[in-house]
Amino acid sequence: MAISPAQLSDLRKREATEASKRGAKTGSQLCIYKTISGIEVEIYTDQGLEGDGKLKIAGIERAVKMIADKGFALPSLRFILTGAGGVENVAFMGNSSGNRAAVVYLGPKIGMQNKKNVTQGVSDAVYDGTQRFFGNPKQTAMVTTVVIHELGHVLHELMAEDQFWTNHEPATMTSALVWGMAASKVSQYARKMPLEFVAEAFSGIMVGKRYDQEVKIAYRALGGPEVPGFFT
Ligand SMILES: [Zn+2]
Repeated sequence: MAISPAQLSDLRKREATEASKRGAKTGSQLCIYKTISGIEVEIYTDQGLEGDGKLKIAGIERAVKMIADKGFALPSLRFILTGAGGVENVAFMGNSSGNRAAVVYLGPKIGMQNKKNVTQGVSDAVYDGTQRFFGNPKQTAMVTTVVIHELGHVLHELMAEDQFWTNHEPATMTSALVWGMAASKVSQYARKMPLEFVAEAFSGIMVGKRYDQEVKIAYRALGGPEVPGFFT
């Protein structure tokens, strides 16, 4: 199915509405502008520059650099770092004019290891596992992986707009027959929906996990962002 320009504009406006609901919960913010690997990055934080604020900023710097180093052309990015309860880690892909705009919220539950009965993602596996990640503290590795996941959504939308938005909507989502089995090889969270499968596989690949043909085929079918050498 193809998304019409009018539908796309509406979907993006809805993203902006959802983003502003989170924005209303955040505290007063400090704003930092950075250029990371040539990418323009705006960071708003109600957590200051120490503690969780510092951890998240370090995660953003690492994630953006790792992705840029793979040759991906990231758009300019806005991150909102907040300690406000009820704000999840989530990426939004539109502004109130219905245009493309990437806004990533990083909420209070980033860098906290999930309890056993909570849905596990690649970031939890990174926390649990032996660090391939430069020997960093586990929390930094986990936060970096969460940022990579969110930027996986951003790249997916940028590189495969139609597949992204088709799978954004429950009514038009790709059948689990196509991606469900592959998702169970990536993480528990990847089984939630096609977009989460793509972002989870992307973050897994970026932190050095290897996946088989089944994952590769499903990932490609959904338009997952890819660089040569990504799959075995
Ligand atoms: Zn996600």
